[in-house]
Amino acid sequence: MSTMRAVQVVGYHQDLELTEVAVPEPRGPFDVVVKIGGAGVCRTDLHILEGQWAEKSQVVLPYTIGHENAGWVHAVGSAVTNVAEGDKVIVHPLITCGLCRACRSGDDVHCETSDFPGIDTNGGYAEYLRTSARSVVRIDDSLEPADVAALADAGLTAYHAAAKAARRLTPRDRCVVIGAGGLGHIGIQVLKALTPAELIVVDRNADAIKLALEIGADHGIVADGGHVDAVLALTGGHGAEVVVDFVGEGGATSEGLRMLREAGDYHVVGYGENIDVPTIDVISSEINIVGNLVGSYNDLCELMVLAARGAVTLHTAKYALDDFQSAIDDLDAGRVRGRAILIP
Ligand SMILES: [Zn+2]
Ligand SMILES: [Zn+2]
Repeated sequence: MSTMRAVQVVGYHQDLELTEVAVPEPRGPFDVVVKIGGAGVCRTDLHILEGQWAEKSQVVLPYTIGHENAGWVHAVGSAVTNVAEGDKVIVHPLITCGLCRACRSGDDVHCETSDFPGIDTNGGYAEYLRTSARSVVRIDDSLEPADVAALADAGLTAYHAAAKAARRLTPRDRCVVIGAGGLGHIGIQVLKALTPAELIVVDRNADAIKLALEIGADHGIVADGGHVDAVLALTGGHGAEVVVDFVGEGGATSEGLRMLREAGDYHVVGYGENIDVPTIDVISSEINIVGNLVGSYNDLCELMVLAARGAVTLHTAKYALDDFQSAIDDLDAGRVRGRAILIP
């Protein structure tokens, strides 16, 4: 039996540990083992170590963390036909059944019997990861796994919300993006690629606004107290047809709803606070409040097309797998520009 290095959760409120474990092999006919080329380090990983996911995931410790993965197909089960050894792939974060009602309608995220590598089973902070044929997306030759790994989760979430929001937008519409950080800056690029609407970006950080303007925002507004009025001024006093909220806390939702036009769509992506809207306002203004959770397999395929075209790019900070603690510490301290990626 061959072994590999893997970074594991050994206890909550404890550091991760690098250890030697068996290389995973295909167990079922549709299993795919991926040689990891890059594994994104996500804020969710910090929450896992804080124990926030322990009850929800019911995961048995120790296990290998890491849910943003890309690499090369290493081994396939006997029934796998969509990929072959050596193919360059990004890994959809869920292993889904393909048979339930949600899967059959393409809504993989709400699969009734899914596994979530890195959350409730072994993930990608390792040399190899076991997933399924349903979860792997072949990527363009021009893309490198370490450059796109974080698109598997952070990027996919931003894409799903932005693409859903884009469906109703026409050239005369305005779309407000609240938050131009990790997810928001991907959402802006996706909206730019998919909609002819005018894009207005709001963020507390002047540097984030500067980046937003460089990647396609038509207007950037620093959230300094006058931002709701600034959005209203840009929209003839009506508000925007669509608001995509990548923040969802610290008062973002009450401000965001004031930026929304009657019959507008309010997309919630970031989360933390309660939304407080009088029901009489919901009926009289006919606004829609829309939730967004990760993204489907098809969303990931579409995002990879935009990535291959160079329409969506991501800043990354790369670390060797053995240097995982530096990546975790840098993320925790806010020292990572873009996304931290571990490379085995
Ligand atoms: Zn993540
Ligand atoms: Zn399913």
